[in-house]
Amino acid sequence: MADSQLLKPAILVISDTASQDPSTDKAGNVLTETFKTDGGDRWATPAIKIVPDNVLDIQRQIQQWTDGEEYFNLVLTTGGTGFAVKDVTPEAVSPLIHRHAPGLVHGMLASSLEVTPFAIMSRPVAGVRKNTLILTLPGSPKGAKENLQAVIKLLPHACIQAAGANSRSIHAGGVSKLEREAGISTSSPDTTTPSEKEQHHRHHHHHGHDHSHSHSCGHGHGHGHIVPKPHTSPSERPQSNDPNAGPTRRYRESPYPMLSVDEALRLIYEHSPEPTIIEVPIDTSIVGSVVAEDVCAAEAVPAYRASIVDGYAVIASAHTAHGKGDTKGKFPVASVSHAQATSMPPPLEHRTIARITTGAPLPENANAVVMVEDTALISTTSDGTEEAVVEILTDDIKPGENVREPGSDVSLGSKILQTGDFITPVGGEIGLLASTGTKTITVFKKPRVGVLSTGDELVEHNNPAPLQGGQIRDSNRPSLISCLQSWGFPTVDLGIARDTPANQLEFALRDALRGSASKPAVDIIITTGGVSMGELDLLKPTIERNLGGTIHFGRVSMKPGKPTTFATIPFKPPISSSTQGVVGNDAQEERETRLIFSLPGNPASALVTLNLFVLPSLHKSMGLAIRAALSDNNNNNNNNNNPVSSPASLGLPLVTAVLTHAIPLDPKRTEYHRATVSASSGTGALLATSTGLGGKGAGVGQRSSRVGSLAGANALLVLPPGKGVVERGAWVQALLMGNVVGE
Ligand code: AMP
Ligand code: MG
Repeated sequence: MADSQLLKPAILVISDTASQDPSTDKAGNVLTETFKTDGGDRWATPAIKIVPDNVLDIQRQIQQWTDGEEYFNLVLTTGGTGFAVKDVTPEAVSPLIHRHAPGLVHGMLASSLEVTPFAIMSRPVAGVRKNTLILTLPGSPKGAKENLQAVIKLLPHACIQAAGANSRSIHAGGVSKLEREAGISTSSPDTTTPSEKEQHHRHHHHHGHDHSHSHSCGHGHGHGHIVPKPHTSPSERPQSNDPNAGPTRRYRESPYPMLSVDEALRLIYEHSPEPTIIEVPIDTSIVGSVVAEDVCAAEAVPAYRASIVDGYAVIASAHTAHGKGDTKGKFPVASVSHAQATSMPPPLEHRTIARITTGAPLPENANAVVMVEDTALISTTSDGTEEAVVEILTDDIKPGENVREPGSDVSLGSKILQTGDFITPVGGEIGLLASTGTKTITVFKKPRVGVLSTGDELVEHNNPAPLQGGQIRDSNRPSLISCLQSWGFPTVDLGIARDTPANQLEFALRDALRGSASKPAVDIIITTGGVSMGELDLLKPTIERNLGGTIHFGRVSMKPGKPTTFATIPFKPPISSSTQGVVGNDAQEERETRLIFSLPGNPASALVTLNLFVLPSLHKSMGLAIRAALSDNNNNNNNNNNPVSSPASLGLPLVTAVLTHAIPLDPKRTEYHRATVSASSGTGALLATSTGLGGKGAGVGQRSSRVGSLAGANALLVLPPGKGVVERGAWVQALLMGNVVGE
């Protein structure tokens, strides 16, 4: 087999001893030999690394092998799968696995059990991360070799599939062909019927599909659904603490890999649903929406020939060769046309004029209006209440002067708004829609967001009773809800879920998604609290174990906000509530996914992560990614209608500002430092000033519990990790949360 087609294996030896003295490792060589002797020429020479029995070291090395462009096809670990206290391999590997493969675990255990009953004491894990298959083998060279031999023939097929090969072509030929290729055979012939095969194919073909419908306005945009695809049962995903296990058996270090903010944003973008289209009447509730279909004018503006000034409607003829018209002179005032008139004025007779007000319809035959300023009153009616004769003092009036022709502002049927346009609060778009008699508009639905606080210690912020013991006031709910409302999203106050009894949280989350008579169903849930490392931090276990959800990340390298957690859970909406007003949604029969953002409980962390992580997701769901893609296409003129695949244009706007004082850096994590950004009245440059430093280093001023660090803040300074300080006068990047203020 050509070298380029060889599968790439890697072996991670996990052993405190071998990491100190590599010469003590035997398993690495034994496994390398096994690839040569039993691997059937399918494998390249394995890469080998040795790490101690430490969760983070193990995770870091495996991610290096799996997450890059040059990923390995197979990662084998050896060691650390037993029951000894230091054996942490399954705990380290499990959270890395996206799709578990219990069949491989079963196969390895079954073959080991034939050799020794002690195999029952091994805790192997197997599954796929991204494009790589990961297997944990025991530490003893003999056990590791036997386990690998038990599955090695099947691994090429699994690896090729994991790497993303078209499963339809792999499976053409049925199971017997696969077995032949793997060099194994079962005793029974291939008895799969054609229809069974078909189903098998269809099942695989369906994996991860994400369909979208193109719409009549010609711009392709998906408003479909992501089909949830749990690959494991909750019992096979031991990432989160088992709340029944109590404080003594909880993890002492988070098993979730620490993601960078960018990685976290990418996952959020990937899992945030495409927008849904709704048709709604024209009123102020559409402010802040993105238009989903082009809008054409239902009426012309103006609908009749209207005067632009107060004055006199006249019959002007084309100017003569010497440049003068024939309007000068004294004329009887034959009629009056007011803007509030419901009927049209009578036609104008030759050599007469009609008084007219701004916006009023011109009489038939009239073709221009003379401003009142260019006229003089000559005589009145006998009772003195009406004008009889008026003199026009100018000859310069041309036909069409001071007249708005029908449709000259907006012509009938012209495009007044197009897909991707934003309905601003300034009023221009609403005005255009209103003036053209538009009855309804299709827009992308703004997601409805529920906000839930968690914790036994919380009391309502307005509870009149004085605080007792460890009670604190729930400040997160009012602050998050007000922020969401200021962004224009409908919110639902989901109250407080207590940590005990344990199932309160589960019920609160389920009820929020289903909705009730008093609270409409929400599209996205934001919780605060319960994501730290305490035994009462129930969010992750509840999402995974009780709601069958998937946690996409549970830790982010940032300050504040490290324990920020993002998950999706499968949800089957009740037909009646989900379909109201939804245009062309054929997804009602299928399960959908709902997003849960579980933000840290500390008030500053909660608000910072709301701004940083939740807003881009809401932006995608309300159609701003489609808007960005359309404007990109227009700018590049590249006829590429793919929606943007990065969150770059979503979320808070990023500006650059000059620091007015030095700020100490965090050595490890990116800090989102609360600050006020103002415009210098002298130079116009943006100046950034911290809302509070206080103390040394990461002082109390920016402590994550200090919600006051956000009072008065309109920006988050993005301070990358580093040594020392970022100096006064340095340029820093700032994410703008509010309007720039004056100096
Ligand atoms: P937890 O993640 O639940 O351990 O919470 C971390 C910290 O945030 C604790 O000090 C909590 O008391 C505090 N906290 C949690 N929820 C809220 C809230 N809704 N309002 C104010 N503080 C909170
Ligand atoms: Mg708590």
